[in-house]
Amino acid sequence: MNPESVPIPLDQLPGVSAARRDLLGRLGLSTVGDLLFHFPNRYEDLTDLRPIAQLAEGTLQTVQGEVVEIESRPTSNGGFLVSVVVSDDNVHVLEGVWFNQALAAKRFRFGQRVSFSGKPKWYRDHWQIGSPRVQILDGTDPSGPGIVPVYPLTEDLRPHVLRAIIESALRDHAASVVEVIPEALRERHGWPGVCPALWQVHAPESLESAGLARKRFIYQELLVLQVALALRRRESRDEAVAPSLPVSPAIDGRIRRLFPFALTEDQDRAIAEVCQDMGGARPMQRLLQADVGAGKTAVAVYAMLVAVANKHQAALMAPTEVLARQHARTLDRYLAHSRVRRLLLTGGLSASEKRKALAALRDGNIDLVVGTQALVQEGVEFARLGLVVIDEQHKFGVHQRAQVRRLGANPHYLVMTATPIPRTVALTVFGDLDISIIRQLPPGRQPVTTRWLREGERDSLNTRLRQALHEGRQAYVVCPTVEDSATLDLRSAATVYRELSGGAFRDFRIGLLHGKMDEDVKADVMDRFTRHEIDLLVSTTVIEVGVDVPNATYLVVEDAERFGLSQMHQLRGRVSRGTTPGYCYLFADPQTDEGRERLRVLMRTTDGFTLAEEDAKLRGSGELFGTKQHGAGELWALAQAGTELLDLARRDAFALVAADPKLSRPDHAALRHAVYLRYGKTLELVEVG
Ligand code: ADP
Ligand code: MG
Repeated sequence: MNPESVPIPLDQLPGVSAARRDLLGRLGLSTVGDLLFHFPNRYEDLTDLRPIAQLAEGTLQTVQGEVVEIESRPTSNGGFLVSVVVSDDNVHVLEGVWFNQALAAKRFRFGQRVSFSGKPKWYRDHWQIGSPRVQILDGTDPSGPGIVPVYPLTEDLRPHVLRAIIESALRDHAASVVEVIPEALRERHGWPGVCPALWQVHAPESLESAGLARKRFIYQELLVLQVALALRRRESRDEAVAPSLPVSPAIDGRIRRLFPFALTEDQDRAIAEVCQDMGGARPMQRLLQADVGAGKTAVAVYAMLVAVANKHQAALMAPTEVLARQHARTLDRYLAHSRVRRLLLTGGLSASEKRKALAALRDGNIDLVVGTQALVQEGVEFARLGLVVIDEQHKFGVHQRAQVRRLGANPHYLVMTATPIPRTVALTVFGDLDISIIRQLPPGRQPVTTRWLREGERDSLNTRLRQALHEGRQAYVVCPTVEDSATLDLRSAATVYRELSGGAFRDFRIGLLHGKMDEDVKADVMDRFTRHEIDLLVSTTVIEVGVDVPNATYLVVEDAERFGLSQMHQLRGRVSRGTTPGYCYLFADPQTDEGRERLRVLMRTTDGFTLAEEDAKLRGSGELFGTKQHGAGELWALAQAGTELLDLARRDAFALVAADPKLSRPDHAALRHAVYLRYGKTLELVEVG
């Protein structure tokens, strides 16, 4: 979409008064360009125009005739009915009926020419249509008996008024909209040009031509996005230089000996791909995708130690303090007897501790640093940074990813996500990265049993839980909110904590963990849970990602309908980390079909990749690029595009950028402008030429 090429205020269109301009403003439309790109949701095909004598039951048909009767009468159940009868030959009649719509009769006059559309039914002795679509045939409504676009509307703006305004915008301004798709691509795929395509979207000759025009605009959106990604990839990989950090058999052996387990085949393959990248002279730009609990940390540790073995520094960035500390503990365990110098850099350091830490990083006295976003703040400098690992990347927007680039002279990047992402997202949000995938779980992993419970089953669940805790297991109880709220009837963490401590779990050690607690309090609670000094942890979703306590095998989720599918999958991942079977109990009372379907999907599968696809189907593609304001166009496009169109646009875009890396050819000028306007900032593209 490129409405910016017609930045004319709406009230310069004939027929747009100040009042109408404000109504259009409520639809988010402020310029003629916006209006031209305000696409219909669907179309009504009113091309089946028939004489009343030839109507048939069941399909959408249209008749044109003269109003011969207007009547309002009470119905047997206390309502009333408006009846308007039309005839096209003074013999056959069609009755339009409206129930309880006082204003329905007001539009009609005797003798007026109108068209009624709908699905006719034979009633007693004549044809009848319930609430027909009406056109008054006096020339004010531009749509004839053809295909009528149905727009997203706002109250008080009548459909035929909006259609008339859009048609006048088309007539006067469609020709000024800039063509973004280069001619060669337009020809190759047979796309209509931008101006005829806009006409076909708003005033189509056929449903087919409308469909093709729409598809062209979807392709345009995807092309602009993919060109931006191709440019970013070129800048951050193909045209950049990174230190080459090769792995010798000696280094490989030394690193492997640190793990208390043999790596899985998938972990090995991911490591081979990472080593291939890090040994080269271009910065690695790799996304490691794995299902929850598949063992990404081991791959990250391997990569970091490769950097250290090559006398470079490595940084591991986690989305939360809880996770950063956990990673630091894991590293402490693996590296207990090594001379690798480590640092945990979080927001909780005192000013003097922080000063010392930063100096050590700058002077090269630290090999390996683990931290939160504190790592990308002002003042953090590295002596010779070789590798940055970003854990649980789905918590970082593209914007933060761009921030990380400021860390130093082109290090290698490994970004990790435990939320398996659908292909559409992999090719867009992460479309500038290479991808490694770990599907396999470590051997001996037990499946999690998931059950959906009703309130009445709470007592028997508590009995079950108490028994498990007695046997030495640990449990999580996750709540959607921290504290009770006046407006939401949800079980909050604070309430549940109080209930359990004083009630059924009096004799167990219970902890409370939520995002509003101070960082060191959180860290302390998490430490105690890890050391099994806490049996049952009541928490919010702060434990959603990454938390790794293999002995915790029970998970209870309160008000589970409040959580999204991928969030639930993450939560469930907390209780399938060891070789003991995990159990997940969901208390939920979903009010919508979608909510019920989400729960059913969760019962059906524990495979994260399947869940991700289902999630994308239920929700649309979610919030791309972590920032909503950039989303409208590409979200619309992604929601409608099949992956086929996405692949097509991606191939075209990458080929185009390979052939014309600066987009300096004249026939790429408009595309280039569109790309920088839309993504220059978000993707931090360097403006060239
Ligand atoms: P995630 O991919 O979710 O970050 P982790 O790296 O935290 O997963 O690993 C999950 C658990 O599996 C950890 O307890 C880890 O020690 C264990 N693990 C990882 N790799 C293996 C392996 N190859 N064999 C056995 N256990 C493993
Ligand atoms: Mg992890």
